Amino acid sequence: MKSIAAQVIILTRQRSSRRNLKALGKFIVALIAMIMVYTFIFHLIMDYEGKEHTWLTGLYWTLVTMSTTGFGDQTFQSDLGKVFTIVVILSGTLFLLVLLPFTFIQFFYAPWVESQAQASVPKSLPESERDHVLFTRLDPVTEALIRKLDQFGHSYALICEELDMVQRYHDQNYRVMYGDLDDPETYEAARFGQAALLVSTLSDTADTTVCITARGVNDFTPIVTTVEDPISTKIHEMAGASNIIRLPEIMGMALARCSSGGDAITHTVASFDSIHLAEANAARTPLVGKTLKENRLGDLGVSVAGLWERGTFKLARPESVVGPNTVLMVVGSEEQLLNYDEHFAIYGVSGEPVIIIGSGRIGSATAEALDARGVRYCVIERDARRVKNPDITIVGNAADPKVLEQAGIGTSPTVIITTNDDDTNLYLTLLCRQSNPDIEIIARCTLDKHVRALHKAGADFVQSYASIGASSIFNLLQKSRVVTVTQGLDVFRVNVPNDVVGKTIAQCGIREKTGCTIIGYHKEDLLESNPRPDTILERGHEMLMISDWESRNSYFKTYNAS
Ligand code: AMP
Repeated sequence: MKSIAAQVIILTRQRSSRRNLKALGKFIVALIAMIMVYTFIFHLIMDYEGKEHTWLTGLYWTLVTMSTTGFGDQTFQSDLGKVFTIVVILSGTLFLLVLLPFTFIQFFYAPWVESQAQASVPKSLPESERDHVLFTRLDPVTEALIRKLDQFGHSYALICEELDMVQRYHDQNYRVMYGDLDDPETYEAARFGQAALLVSTLSDTADTTVCITARGVNDFTPIVTTVEDPISTKIHEMAGASNIIRLPEIMGMALARCSSGGDAITHTVASFDSIHLAEANAARTPLVGKTLKENRLGDLGVSVAGLWERGTFKLARPESVVGPNTVLMVVGSEEQLLNYDEHFAIYGVSGEPVIIIGSGRIGSATAEALDARGVRYCVIERDARRVKNPDITIVGNAADPKVLEQAGIGTSPTVIITTNDDDTNLYLTLLCRQSNPDIEIIARCTLDKHVRALHKAGADFVQSYASIGASSIFNLLQKSRVVTVTQGLDVFRVNVPNDVVGKTIAQCGIREKTGCTIIGYHKEDLLESNPRPDTILERGHEMLMISDWESRNSYFKTYNAS
């Protein structure tokens, strides 16, 4: 009963529903007028034929004829009467049998069903809701972020303006609420004031509206937006966004960072105070074919946190063997990394340029990041209008082996595939691997689910747009205590958990229980890299950890940490 009342209220409150009901009303009035006119004419013609009938008989005849029931108990004998009967049958068929059901469905039944659906969808979050993350759209980035939030037990809600989408997402088990994004009441209902974050990943213009509207409700809840066009950054700032994420640039930097660029020196991927995490290509160095223990890199001051083998990250163990395609993840201070570089600068150098496939937003950002590192590159771009630097660009389809050959696929140390289509990237990965079995292949992908296929096809590193975007936003939630080094590999800081206080690193069992490795220990304002196994973990001190997503999740669950 309550829900019928709610539907009636929705139906009569909405302007569109009121308009619909008015249209239906007009139609019914016209139909009644028509029936009355026919009843009157029935009497006139019956009079003309010399018969007398009551008004009720006239109304009865009109309805029976219009609905084509035709009992045949009242009939006209004159031609005039027969013509009139034909008119009533035809107009009855049209109005009663065609237009009435259509109008009823269009102006009453459909709005009624919609109001029923509207009455049943959630339009607000509970008053007790807090520290939740609000989203304005479900896309590959927010989908990946929602998965991460679920893993960490963070609550979230997706605000959706379209009813059918609300129902679809609800059926897919997303937590969704219905509301207009340009209506402050929606943000009140979504408990924006108690939220940890509002993430808006709509178009640059729609995000501006979201920021302005939400800021009308409060000016302290952080709002994160993504921008396609760098010009929009300023506009979003003015509209009230607290963090503006330029995903193409982040993606370009991540792709460029993975590239060894044909040398064997270290390339820093993340820094924490004085500790740097860097990748170094082992190809063509004397490290190949020996274990880490035999290589004695500790003598140079650095330690090896892990090894990348064609896209798979393995934690370093003394017995880990360095292969011809291994990229080492080394940890050390600036001085220690310089020491490493001095030692290995003479190895593995390739004078050939890196190949970038695609000169769109991400390809260009990758080129800029390589420029900053002083790495030479050439570009293959299919669309002549998107060429930025004609001197180093080959206009052509990279799927054409001749074009790849022209770019130097046979001798180049690295190819970075940045097209916006995962299928194309998969195809190009296979083609590049076939053209040069030793080349380092770094591929962009849009959806997380394609990462594995790209690795299988031969990519050494894959950066997924969804994951990079989700990690960038998630890191904001964790107040920058997490840095995503590359797809699926994070470095994060945590306080020593109570359970291990007083134990040494060797005794604490963190690695055995969770798979996370301690690569730094913060003590007396100093972040010590690669702490010794006999270091005692003390209360209130910070540890720097490296791990993949599952291990990190397992750490947070095991130690109930935040
Ligand atoms: P964006 O998504 O803005 O980074 O753009 C991707 C770029 O990749 C566009 O400029 C496309 O023209 C380019 N692209 C797509 N497929 C190919 C291909 N097979 N060969 C070369 N360039 C390509």
